[in-house]
Amino acid sequence: MIELCPIICREGAIAILTILRDAGFETYFAGGCVRDRLLSAAPTEYDIATSARPEEIKKLFPKARSVGEAFGVMLVRSHDIMYDVATFRSDGPYSDSRHPDNIQFSTAKEDAQRRDFTINGIFEDPIANVLIDYVGGEQDLELRLVRAIGEPRERFAEDHLRMLRAIRFSSRFEFSIDIDTAEAIRELSNELEGISRERIGEEIKKMLTHPNRGVAAWELQYLGLDRIILAEESCMNAPTRLGRLTSNSTYATALAAWILDRNGSEGAIFKVAAHWREQLQLSNKVANSLEVILHIHQTLYAWESLGVAKQKRLASAVEFMNALAIIQSEDRATFIYIKRSLSTLEKTGLAPERLIDGNELIKSGVEPSSALGEILEAVYDAQLEGTVSNKEEAITLAIAIYRDLLDS
Ligand code: ATP
Ligand code: MG
Repeated sequence: MIELCPIICREGAIAILTILRDAGFETYFAGGCVRDRLLSAAPTEYDIATSARPEEIKKLFPKARSVGEAFGVMLVRSHDIMYDVATFRSDGPYSDSRHPDNIQFSTAKEDAQRRDFTINGIFEDPIANVLIDYVGGEQDLELRLVRAIGEPRERFAEDHLRMLRAIRFSSRFEFSIDIDTAEAIRELSNELEGISRERIGEEIKKMLTHPNRGVAAWELQYLGLDRIILAEESCMNAPTRLGRLTSNSTYATALAAWILDRNGSEGAIFKVAAHWREQLQLSNKVANSLEVILHIHQTLYAWESLGVAKQKRLASAVEFMNALAIIQSEDRATFIYIKRSLSTLEKTGLAPERLIDGNELIKSGVEPSSALGEILEAVYDAQLEGTVSNKEEAITLAIAIYRDLLDS
């Protein structure tokens, strides 16, 4: 989930801007915070752009730290929040399709030109309460358009990741992508191959953890980027499960839903999940959750035949609710059937405390051995099913199972 920036964020940013202004430097709010406010959304962070050079920023804010020295970005603390304060700059050529070879400190107007999309290129003067818009961003916000600043092919050639950013912003705000910008993405989609897997993974994570994840996936497929980012055949199945997930679904749930959308439940989904782990640089935690969700999802279609103990064990497993959320997105009848059954199971407890433990078994005469765990699980199954309901019954059953094991 995106963390919102409280009101105090804006106050902290205004405090920094005022100090820079009072020292004679042209200074504005820039980028996402300006866009978000115009969209009546709470900004997630405030970025400040200024004519002050890093050494001048350092003089005014002695504790400022330099981040990305080469780009003239300083981190300044105010009201206990850290802000990026960046010197107006224009970027030199991008020979690695990722970073400019060099930058030059420049004017606000040039700084706007080096930004990616018109909606991200508006400056705000919060004191005079006016916008300084050199790139037509205000108009595109009205038109609800993501449009590259300048010639889209050139801008994407400079930094290929901007193609994914275009899709992320358009899905997040439910904006269209300008025709020329979209055409350029389609033409240059192959170039994404040169981008690091890590950067691609980060963008995809941002897209799929947003409630509009279905739109993002559809757009990725439509523009032919899925083929590159996932290194697999392009797919034109509509991402319906993904689109229907509840808004706060986890990244792993979204990935599982998208895998099922692209492959169907019968496809080689576990192989695909392993492949995506590499392609999207998934963390171990996300990759493990993804696999578990896919497993539980498969098992849920056999819910009826599982029996009470297995149903209860599954229902209290981590990721159960996430797997069930996918069923909800694909098969309403099965979802309702399982939900009803769950409410019955809950009445007798999904994961009650065990009536006996290993020590008690040993005290009752069961030899410590590898069979101990097996006996405990069988007794717990009986407890879940309601066939034993107190310690005595549990021990009696355990001893009976133990004797059977000895005899066999
Ligand atoms: P979010 O709310 O997702 O953080 P944002 O617009 O703040 O959106 P950031 O990635 O934080 O996006 O970048 C801040 C600003 O820097 C952008 O609004 C844009 O003006 C500029 N920017 C960021 N990445 C690029 C890029 N790859 N190419 C050109 N400009 C960029
Ligand atoms: Mg930002």
